[in-house]
Amino acid sequence: MKKHAIIPVFIPHRGCPNDCVFCNQKAITARTADVGPEDVRNIIEQYLPTLTGRGLETIELAFFGGSFTGLPIREQSAFLQVAREYKQAGKIDRIHMSTRPDYISPEILDNLRRFDADTIELGVQSFDDRVLAESNRGHTAAQVYEACDLIKDYGFELGIQLMIGLPGDNLEKCIYSAKETVKIGPSIARLYPTIVLEDTPLYDMYKAGTFHALSTEEAVTITKEMYRILVAAGIRIIRVGLKSTDLISGSGSDRDRTQGHTYHPAFRQLVEGELAREELEAQLEKLLHKPSYSSSRCHESGADTDLSDTCVTFFSCSESFSNMIGNGGCNRNYFEEKYPMLSFSFKIDYEMPRNSFLAKI
Ligand code: SF4
Repeated sequence: MKKHAIIPVFIPHRGCPNDCVFCNQKAITARTADVGPEDVRNIIEQYLPTLTGRGLETIELAFFGGSFTGLPIREQSAFLQVAREYKQAGKIDRIHMSTRPDYISPEILDNLRRFDADTIELGVQSFDDRVLAESNRGHTAAQVYEACDLIKDYGFELGIQLMIGLPGDNLEKCIYSAKETVKIGPSIARLYPTIVLEDTPLYDMYKAGTFHALSTEEAVTITKEMYRILVAAGIRIIRVGLKSTDLISGSGSDRDRTQGHTYHPAFRQLVEGELAREELEAQLEKLLHKPSYSSSRCHESGADTDLSDTCVTFFSCSESFSNMIGNGGCNRNYFEEKYPMLSFSFKIDYEMPRNSFLAKI
């Protein structure tokens, strides 16, 4: 059962005068009704009946969209007042917002503290100044460090969002960003491969041939390494890849606004599935190289002549089972093709923690 629920309040680009090359918020905002504090009340009231009685540990109200703390303080307060009212009534547990590193100051944080906010997620995107400049982010890495220090000093929970494959980006820079994130030590992180959306400067760059959109495979390869670094440091990764919407589906439908071939609706599963496969293969190779198996391998031909009746069983908890099998069964196919002398079965062990995998012969 899901223990944590989010009530999302989407506040469009209004709070943000910036023009990040990848952002289509302006285009979306032009087609979206404005959201005011009273709408927040309506949104909460719509969600609450669907959440009660589900044994949830926490219900979090989250302001997403533009840059919440870029709104005038008066407007922030009007939104937060509604949120605090529901928190004080015990109907929600936490207040969360996403914003930019350069919209963090003692004045802003004092106000957020006054309204009992809990989590601040920063759209950092990269720790490389060149990538930030080429993406027209309008802030530097130095501002990220300052904002993160301040947020942590105030005692808010910190979240960091990173993007993969921005203009000027590469594998080394992404790994550097993941390592800098670990040094800062946020509680939560999100990883977003850069998607080319129509109505953005990035789309123009892509059309002009000055921007290379990562293939899905390239994006998975880089994201996987970042994911590994963040998880090893105990950072909870709450999202990998953009959620599928009418406008972002990669389906090629009339409404789909994605271009290039980066977007995949099950991107998180692609990343976690590859990590599962690598983990299982490392365990399998160890098992196969144990003296009892390796001594009778036919090294000259490279064939494992004595393993034809050997059954390998892979285990995971039920939640991670689809990662173990891989998207569309790709991990199953991989092992069966690479190790034709072995037979494979995939089983659930309800006792195992999420995203841990075990190979047994
Ligand atoms: S700061 Fe956020 S909302 Fe503003 S342009 Fe950049 S991505 Fe879009």
